[in-house]
Amino acid sequence: MEIEHIIPKAKGGTDDEDNLWLACRLCNNYKGTQTDAVDPVTSKKVKLFNPRKQKWSKHFEWSEDGAQIIGITACGRATVIALQLNNIISVTVRQQWVLAGWHPPKET
Ligand SMILES: [Zn+2]
Repeated sequence: MEIEHIIPKAKGGTDDEDNLWLACRLCNNYKGTQTDAVDPVTSKKVKLFNPRKQKWSKHFEWSEDGAQIIGITACGRATVIALQLNNIISVTVRQQWVLAGWHPPKET
């Protein structure tokens, strides 16, 4: 895991804890300096999901087989695409986790 800036430093984000989050290298690389993205359903530009301020389960759910993340709001859908959350590597890893009984995570 890497420490990522929710608002990138290039866009004025700080090193304060509430602007930092743990992300895997893949997600962090896909996110880059993006802070918003286009929702494929409404074609509107929306802010990316902020794990410090928003609740995951309000914006996403797991596919039936547990391998894919499905955006259920404009923010969720835009984030899935912008961060390529269903890239082939992540989906393949999740399929293995499902087989091992480690995934999807239980709601807290
Ligand atoms: Zn990731």
